Amino acid sequence: MPFATNLHTHTYRCQHASGDASDYARHACAAGLAVLGMADHTPLPDGRWPDMRMAMDELDGYQAAVDRARAEYPQLRILMGLECEFAVEYESFYRDEILGRRGFDYLIAGCHYTPLDGGWIPSFGGLDSSRTLRAYADYTIRSMASELFAFVTHPDLIGCSNQEWTTNTAACARDICQAATALGVPLEINSYGLRKPWMNIPGGSRPAYPWLPFWETAQDMGTSVVLSSDAHRPVDVAAGYAEVAAIRDRYRLHEADLSYLTQPRTGAASR
Ligand SMILES: [Zn+2]
Ligand SMILES: [Zn+2]
Repeated sequence: MPFATNLHTHTYRCQHASGDASDYARHACAAGLAVLGMADHTPLPDGRWPDMRMAMDELDGYQAAVDRARAEYPQLRILMGLECEFAVEYESFYRDEILGRRGFDYLIAGCHYTPLDGGWIPSFGGLDSSRTLRAYADYTIRSMASELFAFVTHPDLIGCSNQEWTTNTAACARDICQAATALGVPLEINSYGLRKPWMNIPGGSRPAYPWLPFWETAQDMGTSVVLSSDAHRPVDVAAGYAEVAAIRDRYRLHEADLSYLTQPRTGAASR
């Protein structure tokens, strides 16, 4: 899809964002976007990780808010999505309930936690060893292989846990990018990291993500990308697009065509 698209946007329901679908739609129109995707953090049937997502009983209201925005801003193509953590126990919830019965347009894989030793560790800040990076790569690849997700958000969040690019981060990036190419799942260059506090590194600072060496690896592996603002405030609906587009261009990355998401779905298609 062209530049005038943002498929990663939140609402107040996740408890760390502001505004509702109509507020994002208004700002999207003002910014000249043609396609806006709402992708708030999914509720989970077992109530896991409740502090960063809507509750299950808010899902109907979320859908109603997206429908209301569609009615108020007919000039904008608005897609209804969710940002999801993959787990085998959620697979039928995502496939049958969300994409199936409720008819959502798409899901984003957001690997905010990484399974390790029978539990979960936080992916933001917890991936500072070869073992945890290995677990994160395996989990991200498993998420992509589920065929549930249109793309993977901020796969380069390993930049939050590692000051420097090492053989371990390189191996992790290579495995994720190689699998993304093989599975045909694009990876998202996410501008939210530019608006968060930057990392101190020897001799200066950098955004935790986007982390440039990761995208250089994507170039080597021929991985397709998606650009997004990951807006948590309506005013940020198109924030940082010039910067993430510059990363796409610097590494001559191919931007994935997700226009199929705007077409009516035909039965079994889950992506
Ligand atoms: Zn969020
Ligand atoms: Zn997000």
